[in-house]
Amino acid sequence: MSKIFDLFIIGGGINGAGIARDAAGRGLSVCLADKGEIGGATSSWSTKLVHGGLRYLENYEFKLVRESLKEREIVYKIAKHISKPIPFIIPYADKIRPAWLIKFGLFLYDNLGGKSNIPKSKKFDLTKKYSNILKEKYKTGFQYFDIQIDDKKLTKLNAQDAKRNNAKILEYNKVKKAEIINNEWVISLQNGKKIKSKVLINASGPWINETLNKNIKIKSKKKIRLVKGSHIITKKLYKENVAFTFQNTDKRIIFVLPYKGKFSLIGTTEVEVKSPENKGISKKEISYLINSVNNYLKKQIRTKDIVDTYSGIRPLIEDFNSASKVTRDYVFDLKIIKKLPLLNIYGGKLTTYRKLSEKVLVDLKRFLPKTKKGPWTHKKKLF
Ligand SMILES: Cc1cc2nc3c(=O)[nH]c(=O)nc-3n(C[C@H](O)[C@H](O)[C@H](O)COP(=O)(O)OP(=O)(O)OC[C@H]3O[C@@H](n4cnc5c(N)ncnc54)[C@H](O)[C@@H]3O)c2cc1C
Repeated sequence: MSKIFDLFIIGGGINGAGIARDAAGRGLSVCLADKGEIGGATSSWSTKLVHGGLRYLENYEFKLVRESLKEREIVYKIAKHISKPIPFIIPYADKIRPAWLIKFGLFLYDNLGGKSNIPKSKKFDLTKKYSNILKEKYKTGFQYFDIQIDDKKLTKLNAQDAKRNNAKILEYNKVKKAEIINNEWVISLQNGKKIKSKVLINASGPWINETLNKNIKIKSKKKIRLVKGSHIITKKLYKENVAFTFQNTDKRIIFVLPYKGKFSLIGTTEVEVKSPENKGISKKEISYLINSVNNYLKKQIRTKDIVDTYSGIRPLIEDFNSASKVTRDYVFDLKIIKKLPLLNIYGGKLTTYRKLSEKVLVDLKRFLPKTKKGPWTHKKKLF
């Protein structure tokens, strides 16, 4: 264990992999370890959207939506081969949200991110199109666009590019312990090896506080809420290349998306859980999703139509709001332990991983004076 890395990253989800790519491309020596497969946890259990997050406007999260819309543009540009824009239809549903509010939200959504190549929103006559899919009572609606992406592939491509720039990427190798010995971070891995580093980054997603408390042995000051989100997959419910945003009476929304050519992806729920370990979908979540779809679609679905399900755990920063209102933004918690930096990454979205990674490198520059170049990931295609 002679080499001293500049950065050691715990966790190869989208955030860890994004940081590894950015750092390695700036000439820093990087080592990343994941206890499982790269992109095998929350980063492959998402709704697979690179989006501004239309519904976050209702919570006045203008900064987050603006950054996400800008990132939507960039991520689409650098990862066109694994992403595509898709139209979303919001059927107007009486008594849930007034039409003017949706229109106003979409106006902001079209403009907050600045210049865009993604088509703008418009009002939509549902009697002329999609009347074969939607129940007759849905006569008008709105159309907007977002990007569908292969989330796991996006994570893997980031890790691969980091590798190309000499990063060491370790899979199925849990970080058991991280401690400071002789003015260096010493990280003990499951395979018995020890790695030395100048900077330690904890990007372990929903396990963040567990890693901090149990493996780094530092008491976490920041609280997180673990919120499970589940999806169901059915044979495709319609042949058109369109997604739907359905509003529920509890004010939540769910998406129905074309998935892998032959299927429809339906999600998501929000259920508070105690543990970051994923226990899968519950019967209650299944009926919530089925009922939501059946309120809108002519073709009614039943449990027996489900061909697969998946669930993921969102690590959200505690801000004492209800689960659907807790911010999806990210927060950095930089601690200096015996003069050495430890950066904990809380929260975040798939969409904002690139900007998050760039900001990490800016924040750590003072500890890593040999950082060679400035921001670069916005213009270099992922492959
Ligand atoms: C249901 C759901 C839907 C979502 N939909 C979207 C969406 O459509 N668009 C969007 O932008 N965002 C979405 N998100 C958010 C997005 O998926 C997450 O913000 C993102 O994937 C989090 O990435 P991460 O790297 O922080 O965590 P993860 O992907 O969970 O990565 C953390 C990694 O750390 C590893 N790890 C943990 N402990 C250790 C240890 N001790 N040693 C080594 N490795 C360790 C884990 O194995 C894991 O791979 C969704 C989230 C959920 C749950």
